[in-house]
Amino acid sequence: MNAEIIYERIQNALDKAKRKDKILFTAVSKTRTVDEMKLAEKISWVDYFGENRVQEAETKRKSYGQSRVPWRLIGHLQANKARKAIELFDSIDSVDSIELAQRLNRIAGEFHKVMPVLIEVNTSGETSKSGIEPKNFSQLLDFIVTQENLRLDGLMTVGPITDDEKKIRTAFATLRTLNENARTSTGLTLPILSMGMSDDFELAILEGSTMIRIGTLLFGPRNYNL
Ligand SMILES: *Cc1c(COP(=O)(O)O)cnc(C)c1O
Repeated sequence: MNAEIIYERIQNALDKAKRKDKILFTAVSKTRTVDEMKLAEKISWVDYFGENRVQEAETKRKSYGQSRVPWRLIGHLQANKARKAIELFDSIDSVDSIELAQRLNRIAGEFHKVMPVLIEVNTSGETSKSGIEPKNFSQLLDFIVTQENLRLDGLMTVGPITDDEKKIRTAFATLRTLNENARTSTGLTLPILSMGMSDDFELAILEGSTMIRIGTLLFGPRNYNL
């Protein structure tokens, strides 16, 4: 693991952005074994695990035992997995439709649980990406804040796949602006701006990210055939 190098790069990016706050670190543990995750859990500045599939997370949580760090769902959630997701995860970061929000709220109520969530926004316009379109964002926001079993903590996005730094920064700036507007319109603090992955976290930090999601840099290349 390249933990020290990652930590240094985060600090350098914060310095460059003239920021003194702390970045929340989600170790993206999809495709990783429980043993690999146990090693990551030992790193003091790893705050969360991020998983993108409900099924995989269920299998691993069963054998994991007590976890110091909470688990977040960062991948697209299908309606028929909503119940499992509420049982398994400490936050659902990929809420991208009114229908899904409504279902999560109803099921969370059945569990007498208030579910922390993020709204995922598609800031790149890439059709392959999940997330709500920016133009439909405020409608979803207005709906979620009326749902008493959901607690909105902020926003999440995946940056565009490109080497064009300007395009990447524009996408992240879009998310930041949406979050600022949402703060004003709802009065909520919305502390989490989850943006930045292995290839673009420094740009995300420059654009105000408060949570980065790192897989490859921490664990090495993923092998999807496992
Ligand atoms: C896989 C994934 C990441 C981590 O990607 P890396 O490039 O491996 O750091 C972050 N966010 C989401 C939503 C992911 O699916």
